[in-house]
Amino acid sequence: MKERTEAQKKIVTRFAPSPTGFMHVGGVRTALFAWAFAKKHNGTFILRIEDTDRAREVPGSIEQIMESLKWIGIEWNEGPDIGGPHGPYIQSQRLESYKKYAQILIDKGLAYADPYTKDEIEVFRKKAEEEKRPFLYRDHRPTNPPVWDGTQPLRYKTPVIKSYEWHDLVRGDLKAGPEALDDFILIKSDGYPTYNFAHIIDDLEMGVTHIFRADEFISSTPKFLSLYEGLGIEHPQFATVPPILGSEGTKKLGKRDGAKSILDYKDEGYLPDAMMNFLAFIGWNPGDEREVFSPSEFVEAFSIDGIQKAGGQLNEDKLDWLNKEHIKMLPTEDVKEKIISYISEHTKKLDTFNLRIDSIVPLIKERIVKFKDVSDMEEQGELQYFFTSPEYSKDILLCAEKQRKGKEHLTVKDLKPIFETLKELLNSLKEDAVISPESIKEALWPFADAEGRGLVLWALRTSLSGKERSPDPFVLVSVLGIQESVQRIDIALQKLSHE
Ligand code: GLU
Repeated sequence: MKERTEAQKKIVTRFAPSPTGFMHVGGVRTALFAWAFAKKHNGTFILRIEDTDRAREVPGSIEQIMESLKWIGIEWNEGPDIGGPHGPYIQSQRLESYKKYAQILIDKGLAYADPYTKDEIEVFRKKAEEEKRPFLYRDHRPTNPPVWDGTQPLRYKTPVIKSYEWHDLVRGDLKAGPEALDDFILIKSDGYPTYNFAHIIDDLEMGVTHIFRADEFISSTPKFLSLYEGLGIEHPQFATVPPILGSEGTKKLGKRDGAKSILDYKDEGYLPDAMMNFLAFIGWNPGDEREVFSPSEFVEAFSIDGIQKAGGQLNEDKLDWLNKEHIKMLPTEDVKEKIISYISEHTKKLDTFNLRIDSIVPLIKERIVKFKDVSDMEEQGELQYFFTSPEYSKDILLCAEKQRKGKEHLTVKDLKPIFETLKELLNSLKEDAVISPESIKEALWPFADAEGRGLVLWALRTSLSGKERSPDPFVLVSVLGIQESVQRIDIALQKLSHE
């Protein structure tokens, strides 16, 4: 059988998930490679829903699948929601088509109604076990099968039992002996086709040229090859994507080992472009040192040659790093909008919010890995002091021993003169047109040098933020303005006086 070459045909790939729950990284990564390949070659990418295993179907999955792909930026050219020339794109709506090909196989003498009951099959199975040979349906082909009326399973009658060799675009040349072949079910007794049958018919009817799928299908490939032959059709090219391993790098990632819904990453405030970049690198690389890719750069760089055979590790630290890199690439307005979307309504309603948010955005951006970190910052009280005078106890001002190891606890007497001078120095800046962190530092530095930098910066930081840790206090002054900063120092002085 001749395999189609890329030059001969328009490339058509598909992603064919079963609606059995949320989409985890593995599924989306398979979709990503299939999409990138089609996009790079100006081909067609199809979304097809494989819902023939009715018992495993989870309501709402189709919507979740579509939302997950869309979030990350994978758009399909044909699919259940938008239709296309080969629709419908949901297998349960294509039953007529499977019946048509089933009939073709019956007419060719390549399919038979399976007459056995479960108990009868159990007897065959036990016997094979006793005789220490594998149980094969093809050893039990009925000599006179009943006419298929749709109530029995329809089984493929494997025409030639032989070895197969085939080429996988990722794995290279593969082969399997005749033991890999058996008569498999084409259509179940519930009227729905099996995956083994349906995907072959759909790929044929939809003109799919390249199948990207997980390695669990390699062992069934000889069966598929036999069916392609039985139908007298060419098979698409196979590209087996590598498995995704957990962070230890040993075990295949399963839902139980923390494989979570791709939409959880969305909720945590990862950027879709970063997520795409991250997934791309699980089992693929561009063959050079580059690591940060925009979606279009990735598509441009993508080739099947860059897909590795070995499993790729899921390393969320890498995702964090990439997310920060992608945040750096975002326009400031977009970063601002994202940050604001993770700030509470309460904070957003404060008078100072609109006044100060622009100067605070760079500070927040510096500190976060993903946007959900903004709400965590707010929850830990690390955001409010930018907008309102902080609530804190005098102990914070005095309790400097953590920062000033080996030194005495600060006293009111130590601090009062520091605050007084800080006020004076800040007030002297009041008339300046530009108040930048640098100009503030310039004004305060000689004093800090003389009195002890640790002490002065501590006093300034705690009085402005009410926290032991905060952004650079000079930056804080520039964000809050001289007047507000001096007012906060006054409050600190009042706290010190109320002993
Ligand atoms: N429905 C199959 C799955 O969800 C798809 C395999 C394929 O892409 O052919 O695993």
